Amino acid sequence: MQNLPGVGVSPGRIIGTIRHMPHPVSEPPAGERLAADTSPETAAAALKAAAGVVHNNLKERAAMASGDGKAVLEATALMAKDAMLLKSAVKLINAGTSAERAIWEAGASVSEMLHNLGGYMAERAADILDVRARIVAELRGVPAPGIPTSDTPFILVAEDLAPADTATLDPAKVLALVTSGGGPQSHTAIIARSLGLPAMVAARGVEQIPDGAEVYVDGAAGLVVLDPGAEQQEAAQAWADNAAALSAFDGNGTTADGHLVPLLANVGGAKDATAAAALGAQGVGLFRTEFCFLERDTEPSVEEQSAAYKAVFDAFPGKKVVLRTLDAGADKPLPFLTDATEPNPALGVRGYRTDWTTPGVLERQLFAVAQAAAASEADVWVMAPMISTAAEAARFASLCQAAGIQTPGVMVEVPSAALTAGSVLRNVNFASLGTNDLTQYAMAADRQLGPLAELNTPWQPAVLRLVQLSVVGSIEASAETGTVKPVGVCGEAAADPALAVVLVGLGVSTLSMTARSLAAVAAVLKTVTLADAQELARLALSAPGAEEARAWVRAKLPVLDELGL
Ligand code: PEP
Ligand code: MG
Repeated sequence: MQNLPGVGVSPGRIIGTIRHMPHPVSEPPAGERLAADTSPETAAAALKAAAGVVHNNLKERAAMASGDGKAVLEATALMAKDAMLLKSAVKLINAGTSAERAIWEAGASVSEMLHNLGGYMAERAADILDVRARIVAELRGVPAPGIPTSDTPFILVAEDLAPADTATLDPAKVLALVTSGGGPQSHTAIIARSLGLPAMVAARGVEQIPDGAEVYVDGAAGLVVLDPGAEQQEAAQAWADNAAALSAFDGNGTTADGHLVPLLANVGGAKDATAAAALGAQGVGLFRTEFCFLERDTEPSVEEQSAAYKAVFDAFPGKKVVLRTLDAGADKPLPFLTDATEPNPALGVRGYRTDWTTPGVLERQLFAVAQAAAASEADVWVMAPMISTAAEAARFASLCQAAGIQTPGVMVEVPSAALTAGSVLRNVNFASLGTNDLTQYAMAADRQLGPLAELNTPWQPAVLRLVQLSVVGSIEASAETGTVKPVGVCGEAAADPALAVVLVGLGVSTLSMTARSLAAVAAVLKTVTLADAQELARLALSAPGAEEARAWVRAKLPVLDELGL
C-alpha cells in the first residue's frame, strides 16, 4: 500500500482502476519529407486508412453517446472523411511531404478557411484540428488524444483537463478524476464538482502509476492509495451507503436554529438551470453568461442573448436569478472580446474592463437581459465581474438603470473591491464574493497552477479577512443608505461544507455553488447554530495559516468525517 497526497476538491471515496489521459499529439516537424523508401502512393494509402479508422472510432463512440456529446462526436466523425481535407493532404504528399506533416498542414488550412467563413462554420474549425491530431496519432500508432474509451468505468488520471475535454466525459464511465496539475479553482475542480465526481488535483506521483492499477481515491481528504486494503474498502462502501442522503436537498438552507441561508446554484446555461431546479436550488446565485457563447467569435445578437437568458430565468419562476455580465478573458477567453496577445491575461482587460476596449457590448447585453427579465417571472439581479473601484460600480449601476434593470450589483473578486467595499456598495444593491479570483489575486497565485495549490485556497487567512472586510463594508453602506446590501458568496468556497459554515459565521447571507454540492452543504449547515458558525469563523480567523484554519474548523465538525465530506 502506498499513499499519494494531493489537494481534495470534490468529495467521494471510491476504488477503481486507473486510465491515463494520453499526452497531446505533438506537431510533426515543419518540412518533414517522405521517407526514402516510401512512395507517395503508399503514404497516401496509409493516410486514407488512418482517416478511415478515426472515422469509424468516432462513429462507434457517437453511437454509444447521447445529447451534446453525441452531436459533437458525429460531426467530428464526418470531418475525418472530409474530401477537401484529404485531397489537400494527398496533394502535399505527392509533392514529397510526409503523411503526418501533410495532414497537419492540410488541417491547418481547412481550419483557417472555416474560421474565416464565420458563424456555424467557424465553430467547426477546432473540430478539424481535433480530427487532424487523431489521424496523426493513428499514423504513429499512439493512443488518440482526449478522454480514453473503455468498456468498464475507470478513474481518469490526467495532467489537467481542458473545458473541451468535458464534452465527451461520460460520468457513467468516469468514477473519479485525479490530476497532477490544476489548483482547487481550476477547470478540473469546477467540472468535477458539477458532475458530482470525486476528485483531487496537484496529486504528486500519479503519473508513475501504471494504467490498469487499482487505487482508492478520497476526494475530500485529497488522497490516492495504491493497492487499497480492507480499511479503504470499508470507507468506499460507507460512502456509497451515504450517497443517497447526500444527493437530496429539501430546498431549505438553514442553520440548526432556523437562521435562513438560501442555497443557490451556479449555472452556465439552461441545461444547468433545469438540473439545478430539479436538485432543489433556491435560485441562481451566479449565471456565468460567457459560458453560453464560449465558442462564438462574433458578438451574439440581442435576440439570441435574450433567448439564452430567458431559458435560464424560466427554470426559476418567482425565484432569484443573479446574472453576471460577460466575464471574458484569462481562463475564459471570448474571441470577440479578448485580446489573445496580452502577456498577463488574468491582470488584463477581462470582465467589466472589456467595456473600455469594446464599448457597446455591455450595453447591448444589459438590454438583452432586461428584455428577457421582462418576459419571465424570475426575480432578476444583475452583477458585473472584476469590479475594482467604486467609480466602476457607480457606472455599472447607471448602465443598468438606463437598460431598465432594477437590481444592479457587483462581484467582489479583486482585493481592492473588498478593501473598499463600503464605498463600492454604496452605489449598487448587492455584492457577491468571487472567492476563486479573490484568492488568486490576494495570494498572487494563478488559480490554474497545480504547484501553487497550497497558496490558492480560500482558507488562507488573507482571504478570510477580505471576506470579513466586505461584510463590514456592506454593513456600513447599508447603514448609510438605509437599504440592506446583502453579500453572498458564489466562488467555489461556498461548495466546501466546512468553509460554508465559516462564511455564514462571517455574515454572508447566501451561498451559491454547483447544484451537486447543495445537499452536502445543507446537511452540514443544519448541524450548527448561527452562534456556532460565528464561533467557527472566529476560530478560522485566528489561525496562522490556511492548513490550520481548515484543520481546526474540521475538528469541530465531526459530521464531516461521518459523511465522508
Ligand atoms: C470567482 O472568481 O470566484 C467566480 C465565481 O467567478 P469565476 O470562477 O467564473 O471567475
Ligand atoms: Mg471570477
